[in-house]
Amino acid sequence: MNPVTYIAIGSGIALVVFLVVFYWWVYSRNRALGSPGIVSRARLVCPKCSQTFDYDFVPGASLTAIRLGRSRYMACPFCHRWSTFDLSSTRIPATPRESP
Ligand SMILES: [Zn+2]
Repeated sequence: MNPVTYIAIGSGIALVVFLVVFYWWVYSRNRALGSPGIVSRARLVCPKCSQTFDYDFVPGASLTAIRLGRSRYMACPFCHRWSTFDLSSTRIPATPRESP
């Protein structure tokens, strides 16, 4: 095999390993925060109509919103107008688990 093939296979494996580790890390962190599994939840306030709603999202993936770094450009479920929502600052804070 030529070196290009090795590089292609190697970077493919590296990408898969990275994704597995990343989702495992998200999963375990979210479990620690008390939410089920891989989905994170943010409490968002619509800048247009000031309605508050909870938004569940999978970090790194999105079908219904446009990713802008840590923000999402998406439609408000109440007024259906498109706005930019900052997910990182509105992340629902962790509730500390009671120790057994
Ligand atoms: Zn709205």
